[in-house]
Amino acid sequence: MIVMSGFSCAKACLLSVQEVEEALETNTSQGLAHDEVKRRQTNHGHNEFTIEEDTSLFRKYLEQFKEPMILLLLASAVVSMFMKQFDDALSITVAILIVVTVAFIQEYRSEKSLQELKKLVPPKCHCLREGVMETFLARELVPGDIVTVSTGDRVPADVRFFEAVELSIDESSLTGEEVPARKSTEACETSTHISDRHNVGYMGSLVRCGSGRGIVVGTGENSEFGEIFKMMQGEEAPKTPLQVNMDSLGKQLSFYSLCIIGVIVGLGWVQGRPLVEMFTIGVSLAVAAIPEGLPIVVTVTLALGVLRMAKRKTIVKKLPAVETLGCVNVVCCDKTGTLTKNEMTVVEIITSDDQHLTLDQASGDYILDGQHVSSLESNHTLAKVLTVSALCNNAHEVDGQIHGNPSECALMAVVTQLNFHQVQQKYQRLEEWPFSSETKYMITKSVDSYSNIFFSLKGAVEKVLGLCDSYYYHGAASALTPDDQKRILSNASSLGSRGLRVIALAFSSDGKTYTYLGLAGIADPPRQGVLESIEALYQCGVKVKMITGDSKETAVAIAQQLNIFTSGDVAISGVDIDKMTQPQLRDIISRVAVFYRTSPKHKTVIVKALRSNELVVGMTGDGVNDAIALKTADIGIAMGKSGTDVSKEAADVILVDDRFTSLISAIEEGRGIFHNIRNFVLFQLSTSIAALTLIALSTLLKMPNPLNPMQILWVNILMDGPPAQSLGVEPVDPDVIRQPPRQVKEHIITRGLVLNTLISSFIIVCGTLFIFWKELRDNMVTPRDTTMTFTAFVFFDMFNALACRSQTKSFLQIGIFTNKAFLLSVGGSILGQFLVIYFPPLQAVFQTEALYFSDIMFLLGLASTVFIVAEIRKLVMSRKFCCRKSYNLDNIV
Ligand code: ATP
Repeated sequence: MIVMSGFSCAKACLLSVQEVEEALETNTSQGLAHDEVKRRQTNHGHNEFTIEEDTSLFRKYLEQFKEPMILLLLASAVVSMFMKQFDDALSITVAILIVVTVAFIQEYRSEKSLQELKKLVPPKCHCLREGVMETFLARELVPGDIVTVSTGDRVPADVRFFEAVELSIDESSLTGEEVPARKSTEACETSTHISDRHNVGYMGSLVRCGSGRGIVVGTGENSEFGEIFKMMQGEEAPKTPLQVNMDSLGKQLSFYSLCIIGVIVGLGWVQGRPLVEMFTIGVSLAVAAIPEGLPIVVTVTLALGVLRMAKRKTIVKKLPAVETLGCVNVVCCDKTGTLTKNEMTVVEIITSDDQHLTLDQASGDYILDGQHVSSLESNHTLAKVLTVSALCNNAHEVDGQIHGNPSECALMAVVTQLNFHQVQQKYQRLEEWPFSSETKYMITKSVDSYSNIFFSLKGAVEKVLGLCDSYYYHGAASALTPDDQKRILSNASSLGSRGLRVIALAFSSDGKTYTYLGLAGIADPPRQGVLESIEALYQCGVKVKMITGDSKETAVAIAQQLNIFTSGDVAISGVDIDKMTQPQLRDIISRVAVFYRTSPKHKTVIVKALRSNELVVGMTGDGVNDAIALKTADIGIAMGKSGTDVSKEAADVILVDDRFTSLISAIEEGRGIFHNIRNFVLFQLSTSIAALTLIALSTLLKMPNPLNPMQILWVNILMDGPPAQSLGVEPVDPDVIRQPPRQVKEHIITRGLVLNTLISSFIIVCGTLFIFWKELRDNMVTPRDTTMTFTAFVFFDMFNALACRSQTKSFLQIGIFTNKAFLLSVGGSILGQFLVIYFPPLQAVFQTEALYFSDIMFLLGLASTVFIVAEIRKLVMSRKFCCRKSYNLDNIV
């Protein structure tokens, strides 16, 4: 073999299917053998792209030195060297190296975690190997594999089709052409333009309609548009509102800090202090006070949150969604499969001549009007019902298991159980009008060995009745009167009110008018845990609305079982929505708990109406037609198992196991993350303000500088580094979850936050200045004085970090050991501080000296005041909050 390398779509499309089969040594009916696949994988590699690191790690490290402040610091080290102050020059250089290394590690981690996010949704494919259809990761594909694609799938590799049923593929990402390209199987005459190649599918394009089977002709880097796909994969995620917010906050703070630093340096100069010293102090202060680490910490916190959610089976595809998740106050949910199990069982069939076939739950047998079913041959109506159920059905049995659409599987199960499945062999299917959520029915046309044509129809009862003019009664068709229609509808509604999905069945010999046969009531019980999840959502101020294609009775019955529909709630249909104007819908929508007989297009209208009421909407979806609604919603939620690739692509969040309960954890995380970000902003701001104020005040008071540049840089590492980051991974506070959703526009910096920041900075500044003043009494600045002041500042900062773990709860309530990262980073910082004080080489760099044990104890006692004050404030606030804490959910939605 290996015609394969260099085999492209352009070539493959000119050849017949047989020629492609021969060239790739494959077989369209069996697929490749597993051994052969392994061999090809060794030759061709995996069907994926390696996105090369464009810059080496060392270059990235060096780039850190390009920061203006770092350059200025380096300049001051050089100046110190020229002035023969070698000690200073060395100290500044070592401090810069530490600062740059910490910043580099942080940034590297942030990039790595963002890359991890991209790996969360690996594309899958359906492939025939050794005659068995398998589903696995698309990266495993090799040239010659036989793949199947259907509506909603992404084409997993470059494919030459040998079967195409109504197949249209969206190639707009490659060609810019909005209209999907129609695909067929004949060899092409030319292959110059992509539009000429009507028998190939390109890797990454989307199947909009129909289905097809094809031979893989190009994988990974060898695929035709691999480069484009690679670019799409590497696409940068847009910045989240919070990141943008943080960037602008950082810029504002930088501006103010620089102004203050300018004033400090100017003042020092006027006071006749050495210019180089003032300059170095100014620049190190700028490095410390400017919260350049803020955006990075935010990104890492968001990304880590997303990875945590992935472990809880919810994939958040876009970082901004994490924030929005915390603001969601309405979730619109599909019924089948999301709220219910999607495990359907026919529990009752009511035939047109009023026979009742019921499922005996205990034995699992079907019973006809109280009797075991004997001969079906003599029961014409039931026999016809089962014939239609079997013929108008695409479910199929493999190894004793029925696969396919769950409603059809349920019908097929009855047919099989009553030993009637041979009827399928008696007929040959000629044509199919598939079921769709828009038409809500399905028709098949079949022929038997005597050339008799038989049309089978099944679907929503009102749709089926709309096509019927007679009903089957004791072996003959009888005219369908309005009274009969009423009787049938009332039967349907009584099945519906038991929460059963109702499917009506009919047949015809000409396909024009149909004869009604009966109703099947299908049970699909609510999923386990959904009721509790809905309860939990209510408690945190999120309302759930059900959207379904099922009838009013079925929808309301299930909604009542799940507490979605309670007294005072309203149910409206898709038809009602069509009749209403936007303002009318907007007025009523808050009270609607159930939308029934809807089609996917209604979802978009519903989302828009809810959003125009200033609600933040989460919307679930799985089909191709749901994509627009998923995009329009604030949070589009796709189903990982049953969802199409298109819906997953359009969504912000994917529920891996289709479980509604996973959504709760995502909302919890979303809320928790925002609170954690607030906490470390409080920590960073208070440290930054305290450092600035400390130096500014001592300059104003004509005192010597309490901290030298290296010490300031050390403080910067604590402020921007691990302790801040560890505040971002604080476990989610259950009380935060129970609060009403945050307003989207709510700024991260609130008045309360500013007040807390100022109180903490005030205590830190007073305490540190007090130590400095106490140590300075001999009017000489000795290393001991600065070491005491520096250590006081660092201890204050660590206690401040401890207080910042929660803004409302005491450390005892949140638990001392609940955030291990915090314990590690604060422990590490304190250890670092001891090294700086007691380890001679570092003593030289930071110009420190060893302190006595009693000094340390005294400093720890003093620094704890910032923590104690914060704890008292939290206690007072929680008392106040408790008194006000009863809020009414009805005010929200
Ligand atoms: P949900 O939103 O709860 O997932 P849905 O929107 O998927 O439900 P549809 O699948 O549109 O609901 O079903 C609407 C109606 O169409 C059902 O009540 C049933 O009467 C009928 N129906 C469902 N599946 C089929 C099918 N395979 N063939 C024929 N009719 C069907």
